[in-house]
Amino acid sequence: MRIKPKTKPKTKFIVVTGGVISGLGKGIFTASLGRLLQAKKLNVIPIKIDPYINVDAGTMNPIEHGEVFVLDDGSEVDMDLGNYERFMNVMLTGRSNITTGKIYRHVIEKERNGDYLGKTVQLIPHITNELKRWFMDVAEKSKADIELIEVGGTVGDIENLIFLEALRQLSMEADVVFIHCTLIPMLKVVGEQKTKPTQQSVQKLREIGIQPDFVFLRCQMPIQKKIMEKISLFTGVREENIIRGEDLDDIYRLPLYLESQKVHRKIMDIFGIKDISTNGLDDWKRMTDSYKNARKTVTVAMTGKYTALHDSYVSIEQSLRHAASMLGCKVNLKWVETTEIETGKRTAKSALKGVDGVIVPGGFGSRGTEGKIACIKYAREHGIPFLGLCYGFQLASIEFARNVCGLRKASSTEIDSNTPHPVIDLLPDQKHVYKKGGTMRLGGQDVIIRKGTRAEKLYSSTHARERFRHRYEFNPAYIKRLEEKGMVFSGHDESGNIMQILELPDHRFFMASQFHPEFTSSMMKPNPLFSGFLNACIGS
Ligand code: GLN
Repeated sequence: MRIKPKTKPKTKFIVVTGGVISGLGKGIFTASLGRLLQAKKLNVIPIKIDPYINVDAGTMNPIEHGEVFVLDDGSEVDMDLGNYERFMNVMLTGRSNITTGKIYRHVIEKERNGDYLGKTVQLIPHITNELKRWFMDVAEKSKADIELIEVGGTVGDIENLIFLEALRQLSMEADVVFIHCTLIPMLKVVGEQKTKPTQQSVQKLREIGIQPDFVFLRCQMPIQKKIMEKISLFTGVREENIIRGEDLDDIYRLPLYLESQKVHRKIMDIFGIKDISTNGLDDWKRMTDSYKNARKTVTVAMTGKYTALHDSYVSIEQSLRHAASMLGCKVNLKWVETTEIETGKRTAKSALKGVDGVIVPGGFGSRGTEGKIACIKYAREHGIPFLGLCYGFQLASIEFARNVCGLRKASSTEIDSNTPHPVIDLLPDQKHVYKKGGTMRLGGQDVIIRKGTRAEKLYSSTHARERFRHRYEFNPAYIKRLEEKGMVFSGHDESGNIMQILELPDHRFFMASQFHPEFTSSMMKPNPLFSGFLNACIGS
């Protein structure tokens, strides 16, 4: 049974698939293409498909899978959605991230409800129909001109077959353009660019019934003309539809690079959309140029235990980058493994030598926390700009309680369940939560900012909307003790009970937030906490 809309939907679909290997930057390509189409005054909505059985990314280890991104509606999603929001300045919902788990759960719930009574529920048509319905529904609700669908994984994987089948069917019912991202490896010894992996990957796609309209070729070096000709011949993709994707020194230049290849024009021609000539990427170019031409470089220490994999902190890196573009400086990140400080292998002083600022990001569990606390102490005592994010906020309160308020054994009950001074404790409504998936305090919340504070100055407002992902909070019983010694809780929730920003007014820059400002920063709108922090680092 096919879903037969009376007329083709108004929304056009662009499907981005990947071949050869993972980690080709398909997400950045999709986000950049979205940004470029937006610059042509098109309304674009992205969807990421993740072919894993987890219902969402919330229960996945960032070391294995990269950062868990949080949307305003509280969805814990793949980090590619962070790229979409950062590039496109859109606010997405959980509907923009489909996983195998999510779609199967949906169909199984319908089956249990008796919606398919009497029928055998099968991959085709039940899962495929549900997927198509999902794509159409997102298109309709967002009234998008273009829906950009990125398929996770690599063509040839068993996991994404059903999604590709649904997309193949979609192309019979709507206008769909397929773009396949692949790799052109270069053999150093012979200096030759190889086309075979691309040929075979496109063949795999054709076996499924999908002929790509474009290929996006990732390569370390400029792609030779003869390589483009050969790929065109073997893949059936017109030569002018082969998009170059050589390594760029700055990912934010990709929308400009795609524009220079007129990718938008070629896609819009296929869809029959008129090109309104606009200078939509002018501001974007200014921001990337400002970064490129920056003379000053600041060194920021990033402390953590996932330092082995920088993808765990991608949003923080990008938020610093946004602020740096605005302020016209470059950022050099120095990764500090706090377990080494904790075990006495090195001191905070030596780890932080020469840095202009310190960030303590979010995290879970106790490993490495003493090392982080030592770094916070060092930054506080030596006037080094400090920014704490979520766990960083909690650890900054613990450090202050211990070393300034004299509560030597202060801790978080997450670290020490028997601490005599639980400065950080479980949120009251978390006390009876046992299931792990999607049960933290998640998503966008209003932050009430206290007048006359640094936070008010940075936000230029007494109100902000920020995103959260935590189970623990600052214990309100200790507010007075810490404030008496000079700590200011400059942001809280609407009830006034949950502390959300802290600052030390006498310090050059010492601020922390219970929320994650890295989830609301975008290229065209850097988050004020990051710009304030970096500005202080520049003055170092
Ligand atoms: N582990 C802390 C909590 O659950 C902080 C979480 C985080 O940094 N995202 O509250």
